Amino acid sequence: MIVRSIFFRQLLSHMAVIVFMALTLSCSVLYFVYQGNLVEREGDLVVRVNNIAAFFMEDLKSGYIPDTREWQLASDAVGAVLWLEDDSGQIIQGLRPNYLKPESYNVSKSLTNPKSQIVLSSEIQNAVIVSVPVTIKEKPGQIIAYYTSESILHLILGRVARFIFFPFSIGIVAAFLLAMLLSRKLTQSIADIASAAKRFSAGYYASRTHTTGNDEIGALGKTFNDMADAILRNQQTRRDFFANVSHELKTPLSCVKATTEALLDGIATNDQERTHYLERILAETDRMSRLVHDITDAEQLESGKMFMKQERIDLATLLINQADKIEPLLKKKSLSLLLRVETDKRYIVGDAGRFEQVFDNLLSNAIRYAPAGSHIGLILTEENEWLRVCVSDQGEGIAEEELPLIWERFYRVDKSRDRSAGGSGLGLPISRGIMEAMGGTITVQSKKGKGTTFLIRIPWQQ
Ligand code: ADP
Repeated sequence: MIVRSIFFRQLLSHMAVIVFMALTLSCSVLYFVYQGNLVEREGDLVVRVNNIAAFFMEDLKSGYIPDTREWQLASDAVGAVLWLEDDSGQIIQGLRPNYLKPESYNVSKSLTNPKSQIVLSSEIQNAVIVSVPVTIKEKPGQIIAYYTSESILHLILGRVARFIFFPFSIGIVAAFLLAMLLSRKLTQSIADIASAAKRFSAGYYASRTHTTGNDEIGALGKTFNDMADAILRNQQTRRDFFANVSHELKTPLSCVKATTEALLDGIATNDQERTHYLERILAETDRMSRLVHDITDAEQLESGKMFMKQERIDLATLLINQADKIEPLLKKKSLSLLLRVETDKRYIVGDAGRFEQVFDNLLSNAIRYAPAGSHIGLILTEENEWLRVCVSDQGEGIAEEELPLIWERFYRVDKSRDRSAGGSGLGLPISRGIMEAMGGTITVQSKKGKGTTFLIRIPWQQ
């Protein structure tokens, strides 16, 4: 399980890269040191063995044989295998490699001339033997140094190991800690997002991740937080929707129930009263049926399932028909309609029925909010590739901070307004949905106390 964790894999990959780099670097350094030393050492060896011979000369003359430790130091200083022989070939100090037989290096001649130094190539490849004659208690002897490229490698490795091992191990430990830190940081961020998601799915809807940095994982964290916010908003919208629908239905339903009960109780004493109560029931049922239609429209628009006819519409004629339709309502409130068609372009493509629904809503709102005796404007103009329709009134207007909210479902500026005087608050969101589905737009401009203008723009067709 732990081997499969991202943390472990990250750690392994970091360590693998670091160790690989360190090994490559060490091998390169070793190779260059070895090459340099090989050339340098061969020429140097005679001098070094001579120095050692000079160093021990007096001791040897007096018969003192250096102890093992001294001899080891001497070998290290020469950088070769070093031993001391008497004239019979007996080794007095040091060690001769087992594979090196006395016959393979003939130095006997040198002993006749104690001043000469002999450099003999042994039969062994890549090896040099240097013999320096010495006097051991008045008898001839010799210090022999045996040097191979392997022994230099050995020496270098020994030194390199001493000099490199310590920093190398510290480096590896530091690299390990760093790799752990990096891996932990990475996996901690992922774990943080995962636990936030887990808590969220367990019902803790306030759960959010703090991993919101600028890297890819931060972007994932931000996306999770945004998604969580969107889900919450969605839930809230749903809750509001059900609360609103039941609220909107409750009033007309209780009205219908109360009126019917009253009728059954014989409240109406004559036909006129009975008709009055029945008309009230009809009006409330109409309201409920309008509401149900509006809800269906809003849902269809939101899910993109509303069917839209694609017909050629003469917009000017449609507006004139709308004006005729609202004539009685205008009269009832002593309003006058200012209908102007200020363009030759008339056609658009869309669903005429849905278009009428939009104008029904805008004009009924204008009539509802306009003061008696004022004007309502309905003006068709053009703007580049667009036809524009302005629906304006001189009513109470909408406060600036309320303007963005009127497009929300069930929103009503004046919440205390009697439902019979206002609609359900679905008209504008539906109108906007319809306009957008037909490739148009709908916007609003309003000044409190001055009036409101809704502007529709829709692509013009030849
Ligand atoms: P409603 O069915 O309540 O009219 P709408 O979605 O059509 O719902 O309108 C939402 C709200 O916008 C209304 O309740 C009203 O407060 C405000 N509103 C819409 N049109 C006008 C207007 N012409 N003048 C003033 N307020 C308006």
